[in-house]
Amino acid sequence: NYSVVLAENRKLHNEVQELKGNIRVYCRIRPFLRGQKEKQSVIEYIGENGELIVVNPSKQGKEGCRSFKFNTVYSPASTQAQVYSDIQPLVQSVLDGYNVCIFAYGQTGSGKTHTMTGPDGASEEDWGVNYRALNDLFKISQMRESTFNGLAVPEASMFPVNGTADVLDLMHTGLRNRAKGSTSMNERSSRSHSIVTIHVQGKDIKSGSSMHSSLHLVDLAGSERVDRSEVTGDRLKEAQHINKSLSALGDVIYALAQKNAHIPYRNSKLTQVLQASLGGQAKTLMFVQLNPEVTSYSETMSTLKFAERASGVELGAARSSKDGRDIRELMEQVASLKDTIAKKN
Ligand code: ADP
Ligand code: MG
Repeated sequence: NYSVVLAENRKLHNEVQELKGNIRVYCRIRPFLRGQKEKQSVIEYIGENGELIVVNPSKQGKEGCRSFKFNTVYSPASTQAQVYSDIQPLVQSVLDGYNVCIFAYGQTGSGKTHTMTGPDGASEEDWGVNYRALNDLFKISQMRESTFNGLAVPEASMFPVNGTADVLDLMHTGLRNRAKGSTSMNERSSRSHSIVTIHVQGKDIKSGSSMHSSLHLVDLAGSERVDRSEVTGDRLKEAQHINKSLSALGDVIYALAQKNAHIPYRNSKLTQVLQASLGGQAKTLMFVQLNPEVTSYSETMSTLKFAERASGVELGAARSSKDGRDIRELMEQVASLKDTIAKKN
C-alpha cells in the first residue's frame, strides 16, 4: 500500500543518510552576476564527485592549481530546486526525530543568503532552502510552540506558528531586526549570524512515545578577514567575535568529523547555542559558498581551506552497514521505490 511504500522509502533514505555519516559539506559556486564585466573564474574544474580545482590567477601552470574534494560541488548553473532536492531527505529526517543543522558559510557576496533564503521577493522557483524546508515540514506535520530548554539567548524569541506563512512573517521581522542600526542591510548581514530554529514535537501513534527534534537554518556572518588597520573600537571587537565564532564552529565540525571524544562547544556562543544539534545523532550540512571572481581568489582559498579542515579527511567515506549493504545498493532501492510510487500516482 502507498503509505507503506512511502514509509519504507523514508526509512531507506535515512539509512542512506546514515551511511553518508553525520557531517556533509556541499560547495556551491555563485554565477557571475548580470552586468558584471570581468568573467574570468578562478574555479578551473568541477568534477562529478565533488572535486574542484582552483587556479591562482598570478601563478602559471600546475603550481597555481589546488584541488579540493567535498561531498558535492554545485556549478554556477545549479538551480535552487536541484540544491534542495539533494537535502530534502535530511530535512525530512527531522520528522523522524533527528536534529539537523544546515549552515551557509562564505565571504559576503558569495551567495549564502541566496542559498538559504533566495533573492528578495523571490518567486517559488527561486526560493532558498528555508522556504522549501518549511513548506515540506508543514506539508507533513503540524508545528506549534514548544518549551525551550536550550541555552538562554537574550535576543532570541520564540513564537507559535501554524503554517509556512507565519514563519515567513517571522523571518521578515528577523531580517528587519538584523538590519537595525546599520546603513545597509548587506553590511549588517555580513556582521551577524542569522539562525532560524524550528522545533518539532510529535508522538508515535503506535508506541505513544513522544519525540522532539529541531531544524536549525543558519546564514552565517561573512567569513572575510577584516583589515585590522581599517577598523577600530566596536567594529574591531565585532570582527574579532565573528572570527572567533566561525573558527569555533570549524573546530567543532572538525572534532565531530574526526569522531573526537572532546568536542569544543564552549569556545563560542554560536556553538553553545547549537550544541544539541551538533554531534551525537544530529546531522550537519554546511554549504560552502564561493565567489568565482579573480579578485576573490584569496578569500576563496581561505574559505576552501576552512571547509576542507572542518570536514576532515574521512568525510563522506562510504561505510558498509552491518548487513553488508553499501550506499549504491541502497540508492538503487530508493530509486526503485520512487519508481513504484510514481507508478501508483
Ligand atoms: P551573501 O549572503 O553571501 O552575502 P548573497 O546571497 O546576498 O551573498 O549573494 C550576492 C549576490 O549574488 C546577490 O545579488 C544574489 O542574488 C546573487 N547570487 C548569489 N548566488 C546566486 C545564484 N546561485 N544564482 C544567481 N544569483 C546569485
Ligand atoms: Mg547575506
